Amino acid sequence: MVDAAVSNTAWATSAGSSPAPGTRPPFSTVKAIAKTRPEPGVEIIEVPEPSVRPGHVKIRLEAASVCGTDLHIHTWDAWAASRIKPPRIIGHEFCGTIVEVGEGVTDRAVGDFVSSESHIVCGTCRQCELGQGHVCVNTQILGVDVDGGFAPYVVIPSDNARPTDRSVPVEIAAFQDALGNAVHTAMAGPLTDQTVLITGMGPIGLFAVSVCKAAGAARVIATEISPYRIDLAHQVGVDLVLSPKDGDVAARLAQEVPGGVDATLEMSGHPSSLALAVEATRPGGRISLLGLYGEPRQSVDINSIIFKGIDVNGIVGRKIWQTWDQMAALLQSGRLNLKPVITHKMHYTEFQRAMELMKAGQAGKVVFTFEA
Ligand SMILES: [Zn+2]
Ligand SMILES: [Zn+2]
Repeated sequence: MVDAAVSNTAWATSAGSSPAPGTRPPFSTVKAIAKTRPEPGVEIIEVPEPSVRPGHVKIRLEAASVCGTDLHIHTWDAWAASRIKPPRIIGHEFCGTIVEVGEGVTDRAVGDFVSSESHIVCGTCRQCELGQGHVCVNTQILGVDVDGGFAPYVVIPSDNARPTDRSVPVEIAAFQDALGNAVHTAMAGPLTDQTVLITGMGPIGLFAVSVCKAAGAARVIATEISPYRIDLAHQVGVDLVLSPKDGDVAARLAQEVPGGVDATLEMSGHPSSLALAVEATRPGGRISLLGLYGEPRQSVDINSIIFKGIDVNGIVGRKIWQTWDQMAALLQSGRLNLKPVITHKMHYTEFQRAMELMKAGQAGKVVFTFEA
């Protein structure tokens, strides 16, 4: 469906060359944040403003946000080193206005306000044909496999530009890709009148608190160790936060919810949270796993899962496009309390400062602006 292999890396050769004195460059250039070499760090570079292509739209950015994935790319960990082929403009969470539509695009128009879905799916594999595009085997990711949105203009496949109601503030519209992870995880099972345990209060965990409350959960309990994040959890309306610093979390949970919680959303990627999920979830409940583990092989008590008849589901990305529809309805309802998660706003060229804040664990969501 998408010629994602054409990843507008033409700038790689032109970016470094400057025009001869007295001549105008043949194109206007913009500042972008890019991984230019296979090593830690990212740079601000001048690149040609991208041109629209068939099946794509050109977006003028209004806001973007930083994801943990961007931090992995910045630090150049094993995953980033194996996946990313520099040079690459990074950034996959953004929103803006369509300024140009490419040939063949009929369902998007100039002036549409849109937000990024970072997964470019093929539309032809078995999963895509069955409506399971979130697990498309040919998925390419904006800002990872093709150029992303930490630049004033971006060109992406029209399907990946999700129409968003103008009533949604730009600083929230920007991170719907991440909010969609929380919606997908929370809505992978029932929520109404349920007691939900959410392990890990990173931005997606915090979003999930708000989603569960908005969707009618009876009680939302979180685990988190960082005082900074515990404070944010209270601001988004969590009912109770249990910190491992204050003693045995499993024992305290058993006291609080004697029969076990109805659902656990595992968002920490911490091995102890996986064990806690199995222990704390009631028979017939569900565990939805979103957090990724540094070590993929984990030992869990499988017999407990079987004897308790727990539904375990792995969550990746956002359902295409059910999650987006659910998210739009939640945003329209006015019941999501997301603003406390936005802890910093800065110009996108201040990327280094954003990275430092995130590395220090002193940020919820960092939102970028693009004013000249
Ligand atoms: Zn992300
Ligand atoms: Zn596919």
